[in-house]
Amino acid sequence: MARVIIRSLNKKFDGVHAVKDVNLEIHDKEFVVLVGPSGCGKTTTLRMVAGLESITSGEILIGDRVVNELPPMDRDIAMVFQNYALYPHMSVYDNMAFGLKMRGFDRIEIANRVQVAAEILGIQEQLQRKPRQLSGGQRQRVALGRAIVRHPQVFLFDEPLSNLDAKLRIQMRVEIKKIHVRLGTTAIYVTHDQVEAMTLGDRVVVMKDGVVQQVGEPLELYNEPANRFVAGFIGSPAMNFATVEVANADGALWARHEGIRIKLPARIADRLRRYLGEKVTLGIRPEDLRVASSSDTADLSFDSVVEVIEKLGSEILLDVKVGPNTMVAAVEPTVKAKIHDRLRLALDPDRLYFFDGTSQAAI
Ligand code: ATP
Repeated sequence: MARVIIRSLNKKFDGVHAVKDVNLEIHDKEFVVLVGPSGCGKTTTLRMVAGLESITSGEILIGDRVVNELPPMDRDIAMVFQNYALYPHMSVYDNMAFGLKMRGFDRIEIANRVQVAAEILGIQEQLQRKPRQLSGGQRQRVALGRAIVRHPQVFLFDEPLSNLDAKLRIQMRVEIKKIHVRLGTTAIYVTHDQVEAMTLGDRVVVMKDGVVQQVGEPLELYNEPANRFVAGFIGSPAMNFATVEVANADGALWARHEGIRIKLPARIADRLRRYLGEKVTLGIRPEDLRVASSSDTADLSFDSVVEVIEKLGSEILLDVKVGPNTMVAAVEPTVKAKIHDRLRLALDPDRLYFFDGTSQAAI
């Protein structure tokens, strides 16, 4: 069993409380991604699991062992870094073999393991080269190979794709996923890129200011964000937000603000009734807005003015002004709109999000 359990984990650097009471259970064979903006504490958390950073308080278990006091070497983990950390004077083969040699494996076992890893990664032809003779993508494969040959209980990835160009990142992302499917090794992966997190993670842990905001499967985070931060962080382009007042009129509940007057369906109205007369945050994803047709009711649409048009091929992103708010609508590529056009946008009442005006927790 190679699960990882993190209990009440804290890290304080001089004046900074970088990781605050983090609790996580990563199951055997699971791929968990820690994601959040710069400074949220994700790297520090990973480094504590690796043993590269001391723990201020709390407990980390790998398998069934508490590893708090164990040096990295004895934790049965393999880490892949952003900067590859390859030895420049060694060949690819020796880079991959090095960790095994240090641990006293015999020559034949090492050769077998390097061969298998090289095959998985498609770098059999490069084994005799030096790192400087490789492309960025090939170097990252060697770094992955060095981790794979160790047969560790857990892989730890620290932004391994950050130094690659956009196209290569996507390619390597797919390869990492395939390697995980093939080897089934428990993995913890740190990134600031929410798309990477969503595509790689069986579950994703969203962090902010050292605190775990939500843990869930990718679609769970997208469809049911726990708070405004997660709602705005997951999804691209980001969710639109507007402050609205919850009002009662004509026997129904409404979300109102300058330029917005949305009749709330019964299911949502029940949840929002206790906010009557108060301000809450309304969230609408760009992809849940569309250009209204004559059959759309006035209660579930609003007027906007087009400010910017971005044609992406598969869709068009419209930056629009709705009253004092700016919103983004991701609409069909066939929509004909010009800057300064007035456009009526319709929304799906089942795809509205509301957040408490003070705590910003999902309502
Ligand atoms: P990034 O994506 O920029 O690496 P992160 O989310 O991984 O960010 P951490 O690197 O874990 O965040 O840092 C969390 C907080 O701890 C930050 O405020 C950072 O400045 C602080 N911090 C990290 N390492 C140290 C250190 N060695 N000494 C002092 N403060 C540190």
